[in-house]
Amino acid sequence: MYDLLVRNARLLDGSGQPAFKGDIGIEEGRIVAIGDLANTDARHAIDAQGHIASPGFIDSHTHSDLTIALDGRALSSLTQGITTQVMGNCGVSAAPTRDLEPYHGPLDPAMTRDLTCDWTHFDEYFQRLEANGVGTNTATLVGHGNVRVAAMGYDDRPPTTTEMERMKALVGRAMADGALGLSSGLAYAPGPYAELEELVELSKIVGTYGGIYTSHIRNQTESIAEAVGEVIAVGEQASVTAHVSHMQPGSPMLGSTRDLLATIDQKRREGRDISCDAIPYTIGSTTLKSLLPPWALDGGDEALIRRLKDSETREKIKQDTLQHGAESGG
Ligand SMILES: [Zn+2]
Repeated sequence: MYDLLVRNARLLDGSGQPAFKGDIGIEEGRIVAIGDLANTDARHAIDAQGHIASPGFIDSHTHSDLTIALDGRALSSLTQGITTQVMGNCGVSAAPTRDLEPYHGPLDPAMTRDLTCDWTHFDEYFQRLEANGVGTNTATLVGHGNVRVAAMGYDDRPPTTTEMERMKALVGRAMADGALGLSSGLAYAPGPYAELEELVELSKIVGTYGGIYTSHIRNQTESIAEAVGEVIAVGEQASVTAHVSHMQPGSPMLGSTRDLLATIDQKRREGRDISCDAIPYTIGSTTLKSLLPPWALDGGDEALIRRLKDSETREKIKQDTLQHGAESGG
């Protein structure tokens, strides 16, 4: 007798073979039989009525980092059939935090205004998630934005030697705590302030743990080829697997995907482990702040507000936003 029997399902088992009709027998939380189980008993039975039963989906790009600490059920993932999610994308992750203040990057702080942040590093964050209960399997990258803010704030400048060492140590700590790799968000302050060398040095740390480098690239319009080239360069110079997140050329580069994919294919033929993904719909979404020129965000939100209050600087921000906003691509 099974603990649970799912009857009359269309089974897609993930092997690539076409769907077939069948039942699933489960004991102690594990699938122990698949096929025609019509004559078996079970403590509980579910009639799938011909709906699809398949292994859970893996969502390799989510931003649940802070919301999952508020509500661990992850219902928005589970109701889509997602049972494993990878967080910490686009340079923003739950940890490390600076002074227990989460780095939001492109995330909307209003969504987590009820959140009390009581962790600095991932081990403390993971303990909190486990104590609350988590609806999906979760994995995370460490955000470059978190690391830079924790080490040197929102300053628009290269790191000093001490700050660079601090960043390396934070990346090492995150990897030791279980992060899968480093993500950068080069369109979200302080991401744009990082130069290639900084990203390479941090990715080398990730490489020593067998981790990967992923990037929300610096530009998705006129300079998208250079921006993809930067990810390839980090992968090559740090000898790590590199991945371009949601490659989606914006106007006037619509249609350039063919060339970009050819570049990536060529690198793969040369033996480089480089890949990309795409958003499966025709729009993107991001924050209003990412439309602003990066210099306006130098020093953080309070510095931005000071600049906006000064009429001359505000006008300059306005002019640059019209230019930069169109380039950022979202
Ligand atoms: Zn992104």
